Amino acid sequence: MSSEMAKATKSTPAARLVPQRYAMKQLALALLVVSIAWPECTAAPPESTLSPSKPRMYVLLWFDTEDYLLEASDDAALRNATFCTQLGVKANFKLVGEKVRSLDQRGRRDVIEALKKHEIGYHTEYHSVHPTPAQYTSTLGWDEGVAEFIRREGRGVEDINRIFGTGPTWYGQPGSSWCPQAFGAMRTWDMPVYMDMGNHVGLGGRPHYYCGILTFYDLRHILRVGLDRSEQVEEATERFRAARQELLAEGGGVAHIYYHPCEFVHAQYWDGIFLDGDNPPREAWKKPPAKNPEQIRIAYENFEVYIRWIKRTFDDVEFLTTTDAAQLYRDRARRRTFSASEIREIAGKIGKEITFQRRGDFAVAPSEVLALLTGALRRNPNLGDTSELKVVLENTPLGPTGIVPKLEEPIKTSWSQFIRTTCDVEEFISRHGRVPSTIWLGSTGVPPEAYLRALAGVIAAGQQSETVEIRPATLSAAKYVRKDSTQIWGWLFPEGFHAPELMELAERQAWTIKPAILDRSP
Ligand SMILES: [Zn+2]
Repeated sequence: MSSEMAKATKSTPAARLVPQRYAMKQLALALLVVSIAWPECTAAPPESTLSPSKPRMYVLLWFDTEDYLLEASDDAALRNATFCTQLGVKANFKLVGEKVRSLDQRGRRDVIEALKKHEIGYHTEYHSVHPTPAQYTSTLGWDEGVAEFIRREGRGVEDINRIFGTGPTWYGQPGSSWCPQAFGAMRTWDMPVYMDMGNHVGLGGRPHYYCGILTFYDLRHILRVGLDRSEQVEEATERFRAARQELLAEGGGVAHIYYHPCEFVHAQYWDGIFLDGDNPPREAWKKPPAKNPEQIRIAYENFEVYIRWIKRTFDDVEFLTTTDAAQLYRDRARRRTFSASEIREIAGKIGKEITFQRRGDFAVAPSEVLALLTGALRRNPNLGDTSELKVVLENTPLGPTGIVPKLEEPIKTSWSQFIRTTCDVEEFISRHGRVPSTIWLGSTGVPPEAYLRALAGVIAAGQQSETVEIRPATLSAAKYVRKDSTQIWGWLFPEGFHAPELMELAERQAWTIKPAILDRSP
């Protein structure tokens, strides 16, 4: 019952997970967001002069490996993984903690070894057992929500490390149980990629960064083949050809193909017992009905014929692991050195609509712009000679996690107050790794959007003034986050469930959103 409509997911890993590092990571929460570099230390990297190579289509093939009830799904996972290995196709398996422990307890080392040949992701401890992540984080805010997510879901991550000998490198949510705090946990766990189905956050159907995590979510192309009738293969190949044409025409891009191993052998999804918020005790869990042998045969045949056809037909189509994807879509703004003139250019583009900026082969999110601009002004508060000033962007600060005040009318503050406030904001971002919810101009609190607009105006002008005007501004990047409603949660939730505070928190994290840009260099 984790249907196509209902499932959602994950992102890309850059580093493997080492459990012992968790505690240290948490201690290291005092984040260095920008650092100041002088010319003898660093120089801005030259703009890429490489000519783009032939466009390519990339396929992220992934399997939600989650059914811990029916043992037949263990064999299905084995067959899916072995098929991909033998065909030379790299796939991604997203594992539920209880599924991993079940494989271990049932002695299915064969399945574990077959899965380990592919990229391992994480898919929560128990998947559909209530409360699921969007429920239990829905009233918790950021820090408490991240801590609770780690408390509830951390065991599965450790079990994957213990049983697989390697950590999960990506995450995706059960059903539509998406929550922004999962991204905070992923930062703690060093999981670089979020990948799943769903549309709580989306950037025109393309890969993006959200909370500093590479995110394959709400993608435009979902290219599954149906598993019920042989004719579905032809339908799927036609859709694949059309998607390929579209992606190649825009210079290359990525599509999802995803399954659940249990779909190949179950007549119904295993977790239908948790429909609409139902939460039966374990002893009452019913195993799902199995498909008959002919249905199973068609399911495998459709999938295998389709994947084999993709692999053999196109030399410009490539299957990716999330780790490959993290390299191809790496964030070139991270650890980049920005010169004073670049910072002035970025500042000059900021008006009353606050959103990301794309600059060649990288993009900067609003929170990164705030970090760069406060870093620059703090080091050069008199706006003197900036020829030697450079600022390194170390990472992506989170958006505000508290309540943001409103500013209806412009206000004025003195130059002295504006500079003192800027020093404080820069330190806040460095210490807490996030944008302040309120910017304090002495005793007057203003929203960070309005402050960023004023700060950009000061840096773009390049000269001191007696007073600084703070005018209202809007976080227009918030349009990439869906508004809360009962429509965005789906089958797993009790009827009428919605999560306004959670989606408002998600909207404030639109400070971190920006496109992920494909590396097209040869
Ligand atoms: Zn799932």
